[in-house]
Amino acid sequence: MNIVFIAAEVIPFAKTGGLADVCGTLPIQLEELGHDVSIIMPHYRCVGSKEAFNERADVDTIGRNIRVYFIKNKKFFDRPYIYGENGGDYPDSAERFGFFCHEAMKLLKDIGKLVDIIHCHDWQTGLVPVLLRENYAGDPFFALTRSVFTIHNLAYQGIFPRENFPALGVEDGLFNERQMEFYGKINLMKAGIVFSDYVTTVSPQYAREVQTHDWGCGLEGVLQARRGRFMGILNGLDYRVWDPEHDSLIDPKYSVKEWLAKKIHRDQLRSVFKLPPYADIPIFGFVGRLFAQKGFDLIESAMEGLMQRPLQIVFLGVGEDKYERLLKKLARKYPQKCGVLIRYDEDIAHQVYAGADFFLMPSVYEPCGLTQMIALRYGTIPVVSAVGGLLDTVTDFSSSKKKGDGFFLSSYSVSGLLEAVDRATGVYSQKEKYADLIKHAMACRWTWETSAKYYIEVYQACSS
Ligand code: ADP
Repeated sequence: MNIVFIAAEVIPFAKTGGLADVCGTLPIQLEELGHDVSIIMPHYRCVGSKEAFNERADVDTIGRNIRVYFIKNKKFFDRPYIYGENGGDYPDSAERFGFFCHEAMKLLKDIGKLVDIIHCHDWQTGLVPVLLRENYAGDPFFALTRSVFTIHNLAYQGIFPRENFPALGVEDGLFNERQMEFYGKINLMKAGIVFSDYVTTVSPQYAREVQTHDWGCGLEGVLQARRGRFMGILNGLDYRVWDPEHDSLIDPKYSVKEWLAKKIHRDQLRSVFKLPPYADIPIFGFVGRLFAQKGFDLIESAMEGLMQRPLQIVFLGVGEDKYERLLKKLARKYPQKCGVLIRYDEDIAHQVYAGADFFLMPSVYEPCGLTQMIALRYGTIPVVSAVGGLLDTVTDFSSSKKKGDGFFLSSYSVSGLLEAVDRATGVYSQKEKYADLIKHAMACRWTWETSAKYYIEVYQACSS
């Protein structure tokens, strides 16, 4: 099959979260399974200079022969941030990504190779299925092309005022309740869901949740209507990158047999976060975007209780102003026990995964979550809320049943969080049980190979 990914973020070129990991890794796995894959993304400033393909795009290669095309436009993409400052969006985002989608479709014709599947990701590419179905309806070049739309986070829908509709370059009549309109505004996520041939999201549990009133962010009805062609496929982890035995960013490396090396990493981590050495209290770590989704309101409420316990916490992340300020305040208030680095830093992220004993992730909702999967691989035990992909990837530890690799909050509340932390630290102090826990955690595998096979089934279902 000839498959084209269209996405706003792709590693190693531009990343703010898990979307980039998926769009830079799944194509490589699909290529390994024998498919022809290309990727189209914007030429942001952070991409740097690339070889010119034509006047519309530059080009580079990943994997064996995956061509990555970068849509050029100085006005829209030569900016300091991918989306906007402090986690916000630039005010012209509808126009900006509308332009990107139009150019991506034109580029496919420039390349001139017939495409079986266009795989779109999140609202930034929601216009592509519309263009394919409407603007290119009679075009023989796209006659056999089908589109798949993957929801990575339903909370970000690309909602814009009605006035922006003409800038999208589609028939005005599409602004209606069944198609692109949402409570009087444009909704590009909805457009992607309605117009694509198949919709997927990034875990089976999240696929169930988003069809309910509580988690559907207003689109539950639209998703229920697509039930027969909507599937949750768990993200994989790239174990070539995330493997403590071969990770070039950590020293010493360790395998499940030598997991005690984590103690050395724990000491290193304390010095990175300028925390004093404590003999044997565990470190809880967090790596991720600092947004409400990741549970910072709960962390704020629970912090006093947490800080009374024999543990330290380190946070690495960037995000919303108010959470950055909150974390800095906590670090000042608890200098012995709470370390904070407000930045995006791959090296330190690897050190947190290796050096922390537990990984704190009380997400309000979690479409899939890669960080808990990474943490498990590094023997860093997740303490998580019972939602979305966390339910699909973590198993609550039970010493009597001799199974499990993490700890779930019994309820989404301060007491639920503190109870999970207490259970975790209780096991930490019992050497044998803790060693069991680490063994279970480090044995977990969610490979892209498995996920890619499901995606191929979806692509085949579209074409049949
Ligand atoms: P989301 O997609 O909601 O942001 P995921 O858990 O799916 O969360 O993926 C987050 C990815 O981004 C992981 O690879 C994580 O290591 C990385 N990441 C997030 N914040 C940072 C940071 N401040 N520094 C380094 N890596 C980060």
